[in-house]
Parts: sequence; C-alpha cells; structure tokens
Amino acid sequence: MARPIVAIIGRPNVGKSTLFNRMIGWKKAIVDPQSGLTRDRLYGVADWRGREFTVVDTAGLDLDGAKDSSRAAIEAQSKIAIDQADVIVFLLDVRQGLTPIDRDIARMLRTSRRNLIVAANKADSPSERHLAHEVSELGFDEPSLISAQHGLGVGELLDRVIGVLPRPDEAAPADDNADRLAIMGRPNVGKSSLLNALLGDERALVSPTPGTTRDPIDTELSFDGVPVVLIDTAGIRRKSSSRDRLERYSLLRGIHAMERADVVLLVIDASAGVLAQDQHVAGYALEAGKGLVIVVNKIDLVEPDMRMLAYWRKALASDFKFAAYAPVVAVSAKTKVGIPSILPVALEVVGQRRIKMPSNELNRVLRDAFVEHPPPSFKGRRLKLTYATQAGDQTPTVVMFVNDTNLLHFSYRRYLEKKVRDRFGLVGNPLKLVLRAEETRRSRARAAK
Ligand code: GDP
Repeated sequence: MARPIVAIIGRPNVGKSTLFNRMIGWKKAIVDPQSGLTRDRLYGVADWRGREFTVVDTAGLDLDGAKDSSRAAIEAQSKIAIDQADVIVFLLDVRQGLTPIDRDIARMLRTSRRNLIVAANKADSPSERHLAHEVSELGFDEPSLISAQHGLGVGELLDRVIGVLPRPDEAAPADDNADRLAIMGRPNVGKSSLLNALLGDERALVSPTPGTTRDPIDTELSFDGVPVVLIDTAGIRRKSSSRDRLERYSLLRGIHAMERADVVLLVIDASAGVLAQDQHVAGYALEAGKGLVIVVNKIDLVEPDMRMLAYWRKALASDFKFAAYAPVVAVSAKTKVGIPSILPVALEVVGQRRIKMPSNELNRVLRDAFVEHPPPSFKGRRLKLTYATQAGDQTPTVVMFVNDTNLLHFSYRRYLEKKVRDRFGLVGNPLKLVLRAEETRRSRARAAK
C-alpha cells in the first residue's frame, strides 16, 4: 500500500533539511554508518504515533543530484509538490518574515486544494509571534511555531500532519493484482531506452486496452501471461512533449512512483558508475520496504571484462552493501544483451515477497541461531527471544518478542537476518525485523482470555 507523501516546501535556508531530519529521525536500526549509505538524503520514511508516511524535502533537488535554488527551480518544485504530495508543510523563517519568494509560493498554494500546514521555523523563543499575523493575512491557518534545530514544536507539527493524512484505505491504489515495477534512475542512464527494449520482448504483450490502473501513464503488459505494470517514474514516455527537465526528473515524482510499486528497477549507467543519488534511491527502496533489482545498463560502452555479471556483482557490493540482497543484471538497451533477463528476475523478486514463513520453522531457525552464536551481552544483559512470527505485511516482516527491545545490536540484527534469509530466501527484498517486548504479548494474551 502506498504511503502518503508529506512534502516540505519553502525557499532556501528556512531549515527544510533540519526539519526533515527531525521528522524522520535517523532510522539508526536499519541505516548504520558502515552500511555505505550516505546520510545527506532528502527523503525517507517517518513514523509518528504508529502512522507511517514519506517525508520529502523538495529543496530544488532533482534525480541527477543537481541542486538548483533559483527562483524558477523553487517554483517548479513547489508546483510538483502541490501536484504529487498528500500533505504540504510550507516552511517559513520567523526571523526574516515573508519574502517575495514566500509570497510566490503562497500564491501557488492558495489555489491548490492540498492539505496545507504552515510552519514558522527558527522560533527559538516562543514569543516570536509577529509572523502569525502576516501568515493569516495570506489566508492560511495559524502557523506552527517550531525550532527544527532544537526540536521545539516539532511534535505538535507532526500531530497536525497525521491529523490531515489521508486514511490508509483512501490512499490505497489496490485496483489490480498485477506485479508493479518502477523503473528508477538518474537522467540519461537509459530508462526510456530500457522501457522500449522491454516492450520489444516477444514474451511481453502490451495490453491494448489499458484500464486496470488509475494512472494513465503506466504501461500495462502481460509477460508470459503474468500481468505486469511498468510504472512511469520520470515522465519517461512523455519525453518529447515534456518541456521541463526539472519536472521530468523530479525526485518527488520518482518517490510517488516508487510508493506505488512492489519492486524498484534501479538503472545505473555502466560507463558512469555509481553516484550518491543511485545509493539514495536504493536506500529509499529499502526503507520503504520495496523489492530492488539493480540494472546495469550500457554495458556495450565498457571493456569486455566489465560486461560480465560477475564483475558488477563484485563492483557493486560495497556501494550497495546495505542492499546486498538485491540481484544485479547487466544489460544493454542498445544491443539488447541481457534484456530478456530483466523481467524474469524482477518477477521473481515480487514472488519472493509472498513467501510464507511458517512459525514453527521460523522459531526453529532463530532458536538455532541464538544457540550457535549467542547475542553479546550489553551492560550485563542479553537479548532473549521468546517467540517469533511473520507479520502480515507486503514487505517480508518478522516480529520477535524479546525480553528487552534495546538489546539488539546492529551486527546481531544482521546476523539474524542472514539466518532467516539462508532458510527462506526473500531474494531482492528487505527483511524487516520488528522487536516487541515480551510483556506486550503477555498482556495481550491476558486481555484475550
Ligand atoms: P533516461 O533519461 O534514463 O530515460 O535515458 P534515455 O533512455 O533517454 O537514454 C539516454 C541516452 O543514452 C540516449 O542517448 C540513449 O540512446 C543512450 N542509451 C540508452 N541505453 C543505452 C545503451 O544500452 N547503450 C548505449 N550505448 N547507449 C544507450
């Protein structure tokens, strides 16, 4: 199910990325410093009072990583945010008051029907209220006064945000049972070329009467009889009619597409290598619980020994250490080498999301793992597992009931994850290990009696 998207918009230097960091926390449990995932991200999954949503700092940043803070870029990004996000947080700087750019953005917002929350940042002392008048003159509700840097008022702001999020059943696109693949990647890595090459495969039949998906720009096809939807990420197919590069490669559009997908096909240009943006996309797929396939394109442009899959598996291992579960394919959209392997690999990854992990087997695997290599003790205490079970989630998820949820060290988490994967596969998918205090299970069992 697609998570709702909350976009933070505003001119440069109002504190968007500081607020972004506050909102998502650092997800320390899954993103450790050694994982190779850089932290200067601008999008991630937030969790507040049990509601999950995606937060995007629009910041004039496109999928190419180009940071453009011109007025035109800010306006274009704000427009896309208004178009794609479910909730907009419009951030102002309380110390500077309303600037002409703020007023421009406000004008765009006023005519949209999006859920809008205005927040005034850098209100380090709660007495700074003069901006509230200016904001209400614009016709908006009272702004939330916050200090993103000091964390003041952020909880109240998040409460307002979840108060206007669409309800899960409203946001659900669940309108068909097709496998949904999103083709992602930086500009010019060859996404459109790949899409066309995939459609040229004789096993792929493009549906003559599209109609099962809500988005008219998606491509529906049947591959060996399996219904597949290729989700358009960057206006791939409208290339010729698209005037605005900014809009085509908008990160927000990409995220919107990813949220609707089961699996992300991350396209990388073999002749250019891996850039931080490529890692960010993979990191987001991990966080969002999506499957991931890394497609190395343009292998016709590199030396013969760099055309081998084995070469890329090895070369990508450190760049994508945090997503080591992702299968790699090496292809050329130009010569068609490797193209026939893409959809079978991607559909296998979708299939692995449906794997059932029977409780008795799961508990046996984990108990054996605990015996073979006991968890390290932390301040004299050790993690103890009472029971594990698979949660009914689209992302493979294991819930572990333990004595103390703070006792799971990152490396032990990785060890347990590996044991579960060795037994159940889950190729191409992140595995969510969720810890619950044993106490909650007992009290629930008592309540049920
Ligand atoms: P997009 O921006 O990711 O959709 O990239 P395009 O599909 O528009 O491709 C960008 C450029 O790379 C175009 O000039 C393509 O012809 C070229 N290209 C795409 N795939 C390949 C490939 O496999 N080999 C070579 N040599 N060029 C490619």
